[in-house]
Amino acid sequence: MLTFEHDYKTLPEPLWVACRPTPVETPTLIAFNQPLAHTLGADDIPDDDTLAQWFGGNTLPPGAEPVALGYAGHQFGNFVPQLGDGRALLLGEVIDRQGKRRDIQLKGSGRTPFSRGGDGRSPLGPVLREYLVSEFMAAIGVPTTRALAAVASGEQVRRQLLEPGAVFTRVASSHVRVGTFQFAAARQDEQILKALADYVIKRHYPDAASADDPYLALLEAVVARQAALIARWMSIGFIHGVMNTDNTSVAGDTIDYGPCAFMEQFDPRKVFSSIDQGGRYAFENQPGIAQWNLARFAETLLPLMKVEGEEAVEQATDAIRKFSDIFATEQRTLQADKLGLAANSEQASRLMEGLETQMARGGMDMTATFDALTQYAASCDAQHRDALLSLTSQPDTLTTWLETWQAEMAAGKDSARLDAMRRANPAIIPRNHRVQEAIEAAYGGNYAPFHTLLEVVTHPYDDSVDARRLAAPATSSEQVLRTFCGT
Ligand code: AMP
Ligand code: MG
Repeated sequence: MLTFEHDYKTLPEPLWVACRPTPVETPTLIAFNQPLAHTLGADDIPDDDTLAQWFGGNTLPPGAEPVALGYAGHQFGNFVPQLGDGRALLLGEVIDRQGKRRDIQLKGSGRTPFSRGGDGRSPLGPVLREYLVSEFMAAIGVPTTRALAAVASGEQVRRQLLEPGAVFTRVASSHVRVGTFQFAAARQDEQILKALADYVIKRHYPDAASADDPYLALLEAVVARQAALIARWMSIGFIHGVMNTDNTSVAGDTIDYGPCAFMEQFDPRKVFSSIDQGGRYAFENQPGIAQWNLARFAETLLPLMKVEGEEAVEQATDAIRKFSDIFATEQRTLQADKLGLAANSEQASRLMEGLETQMARGGMDMTATFDALTQYAASCDAQHRDALLSLTSQPDTLTTWLETWQAEMAAGKDSARLDAMRRANPAIIPRNHRVQEAIEAAYGGNYAPFHTLLEVVTHPYDDSVDARRLAAPATSSEQVLRTFCGT
């Protein structure tokens, strides 16, 4: 079905270690992403039982040569020199229909040499959450790993309680993380580090190869992609939850969905993750944290750079500083789109700041606010205006803001701008209580809510009865206050 290659295995060990999945008791297919499989070049999809055997880790799909990848990482600011795939295995890479090399990885497939004390398994809840959220991100065009399959294991995993287990199959541009570079750098073997950097340049940033200093160019390119990625996150209220350097993809994908969640009532300091007690990874901290992670990446590249010593540090620091400008530029464009304004509108940032204040003070749901604003922009009628005003506890101040916005919006409003506004403001997000509800039903053996929610979040611009029901913000009793890691 998939034609595997093993380019990553041309890199020296211990960047990878061969390891086989541990079979599970009764693998049962929960979901398989046919359209994604098609883009990966698969024509002949086997029956569900074969898919469950393959993507539950019981038999290997033809051509797979599983390896666990080595990486290190700063976890909540503390450096751990060896983490690695403790519960994941790279089956190999496939070349997709656009000629892009993509990793196929099992997650929850059993212990590996990097497992430390862990059981190598995943509970069902985090598998379903990652499936839903990553496919939603893909549907709205945010760079992300993808979900190819979810398989119930028929086994229990012990976390705080016993939970049903599952194996997730993920597709990624690659699994090279900032932590992979930290792992190579910590071994103080420049050959490994250089092999890794050259590999990443070849695979993700081929233009850097011909730069005056390819490794500085690599750093600049990774900075630019991360800045663009985080700007997208901020524009939709996405909170990753565990922005450790081992969860920061060098290719610029959103990766390692753990206790991630979407902000509902607008609050820049919002944190959901139960393990983020200091609020290090709060919504508003995400750009700064990404920049901090990139500084750790830069440190690993210093020995490879063309210039040495202070000069290398200076050049790397300049590259990291550029994050702020690139982020600001990306953010301005997204803000203009979200507000239905021209890309070069000088008012966009100021109006966005004003609206954020309105949302925060008026207790407004971020997604519902932008959806209502989009509908009002299209119709300009009293009914949609009232719908928007009904979202705030302070309609008077919002009315004042609306007048300023409308004056700016009216200048040069056209259908292309309204289209861009609609795309920037999906009516649907995987709302935390809906994700939770789908997970709870699945724990009771009912996967229907998961499938319905998946259908809705992967068509975030469609209007349907299910979409309208699942788009609604949580009532106070439905609200999810905390999310938990899969680990
Ligand atoms: P994560 O929280 O998924 O980003 O994982 C952080 C680190 O812990 C990675 O090295 C994982 O491979 C490892 N890890 C997480 N859960 C498990 C588990 N159940 N068994 C073994 N290793 C794990
Ligand atoms: Mg991780």
